[in-house]
Amino acid sequence: MADCIFCKINNGEINTSFLYEDEQIMVFRDINPRAPVHLLIVPREHIADLGAAEEKHKELLGHINLVIAQMARQEGISDKGYRVIMNKGADGGQEVFHLHYHLLGGAPLGNMVTYR
Ligand code: 5GP
Ligand code: ZN
Repeated sequence: MADCIFCKINNGEINTSFLYEDEQIMVFRDINPRAPVHLLIVPREHIADLGAAEEKHKELLGHINLVIAQMARQEGISDKGYRVIMNKGADGGQEVFHLHYHLLGGAPLGNMVTYR
């Protein structure tokens, strides 16, 4: 996708250092961190949002979850805990329309997501 920021990160047009990468996904720090640890876990394939995921992405989606848990251990936030967020669409507050998961931690994040 020509105008997609995360596709540009994937193809090297936007230089970004990866904390982890493999043939399916890449992990890098959010440019505007909302917590002491704020990572983005992003499939290399352009999938616009979770609603566009298909049966063929089942293994990928499982892999993403396991890498999130591994990154949390690597960042030293696993024992105290963390939050994983996936925003979908306008009401979900999605800004980059290429599927991605946020890993947030390193401080108490409060109880639950609200709309206030
Ligand atoms: P969304 O609101 O779509 O779930 O989250 C998009 C996230 O991507 C935001 O937290 C934003 O700070 C981050 N972001 C946008 N552009 C870039 C970029 O060029 N590099 C990095 N590392 N993060 C970005
Ligand atoms: Zn993309």
